[in-house]
Amino acid sequence: MTCPNDMGRGTEVAPTTFEAVVNSYFFNCGGFPDDVGSGFGGLDAKTAANVAKPASTVMFGCAVLTEPRDSKGWHRPKPAGYLLFADTHGEFKTAWQTYDLIW
Ligand SMILES: [Zn+2]
Repeated sequence: MTCPNDMGRGTEVAPTTFEAVVNSYFFNCGGFPDDVGSGFGGLDAKTAANVAKPASTVMFGCAVLTEPRDSKGWHRPKPAGYLLFADTHGEFKTAWQTYDLIW
């Protein structure tokens, strides 16, 4: 899937994240990007019934949200984008605001 505002991230050599990894979005499989790994949350191996607070739990989002210090903001001058939560509602957030969510 391609975010229409995909400008790539500083961590990639391709001009867009889609061209780098064939998707402009991340999926919350392993928890918060700075803390990925066993014990840090994420939806890997969980069923919908195992998600305690689906309205607050990140499921999917614009990849730039994982890079709050990136020079490319995609949807705003500073990194910001759209999130889909486990209950399937969407919200717009800055990358820094994702630190307060459940991963
Ligand atoms: Zn986007």
